[in-house]
Amino acid sequence: MKNHSLLMIPGPVEFEPEVLAALAVPTTSHVAPDFIQIFGSALEQMRQVFQSPDGQPFILAGSGTLAMDTAAANLVEQGDKVLVINTGYFSDRFAAIASRYGGRVTQVPAPVGGRPSLDEVEAMLQQGGYQVMTVTHVDTSTGVINDVQGLAGLARRYGALCVVDGVCSVAAEELRMSEWGVDLVLTASQKAVGTPPGLALVVAGPRALEKFKGRTTPVPNYYADWANWLPVMEAYEARKTGYFGTPAVNLVVALHTSLTQILAEGMETRWQRHMAVSRACKAGIAALGLAQVPLGEEVAAHAMTAPRYPLGVNGAELVSRVASHGVVVAGGLHPAIRGDYFRIGHMGAAGIAEVLATLSAIELALGECGYPVETGKGVAAAQGAYSNY
Ligand SMILES: *Cc1c(COP(=O)(O)O)cnc(C)c1O
Repeated sequence: MKNHSLLMIPGPVEFEPEVLAALAVPTTSHVAPDFIQIFGSALEQMRQVFQSPDGQPFILAGSGTLAMDTAAANLVEQGDKVLVINTGYFSDRFAAIASRYGGRVTQVPAPVGGRPSLDEVEAMLQQGGYQVMTVTHVDTSTGVINDVQGLAGLARRYGALCVVDGVCSVAAEELRMSEWGVDLVLTASQKAVGTPPGLALVVAGPRALEKFKGRTTPVPNYYADWANWLPVMEAYEARKTGYFGTPAVNLVVALHTSLTQILAEGMETRWQRHMAVSRACKAGIAALGLAQVPLGEEVAAHAMTAPRYPLGVNGAELVSRVASHGVVVAGGLHPAIRGDYFRIGHMGAAGIAEVLATLSAIELALGECGYPVETGKGVAAAQGAYSNY
């Protein structure tokens, strides 16, 4: 494509033209009647996308890390016991944030590419006293997906809040917040939600709000404090004005456009589409003889694929040669294996056409890096594995 490379990283992703066009609508006042309507409607749509009819949505200017920061700042009090289910880089980050707010953090570790079993997690919870458990739904550093439903059930049984980092999963992976008993889900605009970077999105369930309201100490973060934002979110949803900090007006308009598209596609269909596209991508990568970071199919996410470089291929060279063929993929992120693998994001607007183009660019690049590749083999395998959803 002229002047446009295909952006196939795990966020930011390819955005729909209508979403990008929404950004260019002239900025209104944040209390203009039209904007109040759009903001209120976006909050209502979030409940549907997160599948949380009884949750409280928050839309804040910031990245996904701010969403994590907000969750921990409001829910973790000095001395609280926090259990972190660790599947990689972003679980490490949640552990660091929770301890910054005074949480006494214990981690349940897993080998790189794996996830802790429900039994291992239950054994930790049985030791008792955990107020909060954090789960990275899809750890973008490994491409590993957690069993959120199973983990949320355990958290409930042992009286801990289940907080889910869904930055690489919301609107791509099946996630039923209320039905599964998840207490908080957070994400960022630039991943599967399909809106350019800049919005932190959080939905807090009734138990999370209860813990927040029962705090004995103030939230030690001024910007993130729900006491400041709750009245604003409630006001917009009631189609009234509220103010604490100026909302990112243009991004909220774009978010509303994207959420409208997501709900028009339908959550079930959207999850199925991501599964079909993921199956195709993984089959293509396997056909080229490349291993993948997740240790088994059952722990591999559908929003992304994490192939290992073949022996003898220089990773940096491969990624740059793929880019020279018009497709941008991401290098490694997990500190233990950073130089050993790369990452393909296939979430949001990306469909089978984008995945086939990506595999084709990878085949060309592999050949140029001296790896013996039968051109078209990956693409053919992906086509073969793809099915209508
Ligand atoms: C991208 C990502 C984050 C961080 O989001 P930023 O917008 O980069 O701050 C956190 N968790 C997961 C799982 C992610 O994929």
